[in-house]
Amino acid sequence: MLDRARPQEAPHSVAPVVRAASWLTLTALLISLIAGDGTAAQPKKKPHVTPHKPADGETSVAAAPKPPRKVSRKKKDRDKNSVEGIADFGTAHFLLHTDLSDDAAEELLDRLETMLELISKYWGRASSGVIEMFVVKDLSKWPAGSIPGEGLDSINGGAGITVTRRVSSGDAFLAKSIVYAIADRGTPQHEVVHAYCGQTFGRTGPLWYSEGMAEMGQYWRANDFSVNAHPQIIRYLRNSQPKRGLLEIVNAREITGDSWQNYAWRWALCHLLANNVNYHGRFHSLGLALLTNLPDASFEQAYGPMAQEISFEYRQFLQNVETGYRADLCSWDWKAKFKLAKTGNITQAKIEAQRGWQPSRLIVSDGEDYEFSVNGKWSLHENGPAVDPDGDEQGRGRVVGALLTEVNGEYQLGEPFELGKFGSFQAPGPGSLYLRCRDDWSSLADNRDSVIVRLKLKSKGPPLAPPKDDDHKKKTSDKKPAPESTENDHP
Ligand SMILES: [Zn+2]
Repeated sequence: MLDRARPQEAPHSVAPVVRAASWLTLTALLISLIAGDGTAAQPKKKPHVTPHKPADGETSVAAAPKPPRKVSRKKKDRDKNSVEGIADFGTAHFLLHTDLSDDAAEELLDRLETMLELISKYWGRASSGVIEMFVVKDLSKWPAGSIPGEGLDSINGGAGITVTRRVSSGDAFLAKSIVYAIADRGTPQHEVVHAYCGQTFGRTGPLWYSEGMAEMGQYWRANDFSVNAHPQIIRYLRNSQPKRGLLEIVNAREITGDSWQNYAWRWALCHLLANNVNYHGRFHSLGLALLTNLPDASFEQAYGPMAQEISFEYRQFLQNVETGYRADLCSWDWKAKFKLAKTGNITQAKIEAQRGWQPSRLIVSDGEDYEFSVNGKWSLHENGPAVDPDGDEQGRGRVVGALLTEVNGEYQLGEPFELGKFGSFQAPGPGSLYLRCRDDWSSLADNRDSVIVRLKLKSKGPPLAPPKDDDHKKKTSDKKPAPESTENDHP
């Protein structure tokens, strides 16, 4: 069974219900309208570990300079039934009932409006109707009965739930979602993804998709594609053995709100497919097909022809994922043409500092020696010093290689080994050589520039010339060292 995310709140007072706000009336009306229709619920359980902590710099709304407000949100006038400490806020797309402070409620609504704008663009449909939300910071402030019973258990458990009621006739439908969430950063975001899908499409898709996308919403931050899942989630995914397979995630007979571990796998799959450039197009189409209930839409149908590649990249993702990891930058280049080195011909490849493994275009033979000569420098930070392909004192920035092989229909990447600026290496096996700039997987995005790697079979043809910039450096550096910084200026 699941652990609850938080200890139970103190039982709230049993004062007479004084809150008879308009949303209750609206809800009642709606339920009566669609009486007899089924309800779909997506409970959301959180890891039993520490609650989500906002990242530095976003803890205090009051302390930070306020950005210009994007949306018009209006605190609703109090009426005789209002409860002290609980307010209603309205924006173009939300009706929020909350005990958060005005500042915190406004910050939440601005964040949700921005996220909603982006997910509406992603799915190509404007959000339909107003999403009603109960966001609860301190349940003891809410009089008994002021939160509908359908949301109370989840809030008591330190989590969230979205209840969508839908009535349909043929293709036409009317759907109304109500979100219940605790007032941490991620839960309202997670639930709003469900509510948007529920109200706009009338459904949220199969479980793996519905919860995977909502988890992406939970971790969503404006203009940031890097992994920022809870560190406990990342550790769990990296350390789990055996890793859960793709079809295992997609086809599992699981239920909503089952366990945070199941949510972690769904997030991993959706995050990878939505961000990796090899798969994001198909993932987008598949998602729309699932949300609009197109016949035959399925994961297997969408990705069957690339099952081998996707499975490999998924395993790479689980092996290397860290906070800051960029699935887009680590997308594999499956189109590059490779050639087995048999003659003295030189193979040349451009390797970018901020990308993951990149094709050298050379196929090596087990035990054979190969020469390499690498021109250019790169840097490991946006304004960092230029580092040559031998790397810095810690070996970061060094050119490293690894061999991709196919064993029993499965791609495998061998242990990485060092190259550098100039020299030779003995192939540790047969395979296609991939190269990258050695750096933490979490911090590739701020790397700059690229190098040109030349490779050649050692036993054939004249030896490779040393990198050009070495010659240049010898001439100038003895007397008058050129400032390094001019070399890595990057517009
Ligand atoms: Zn959910």
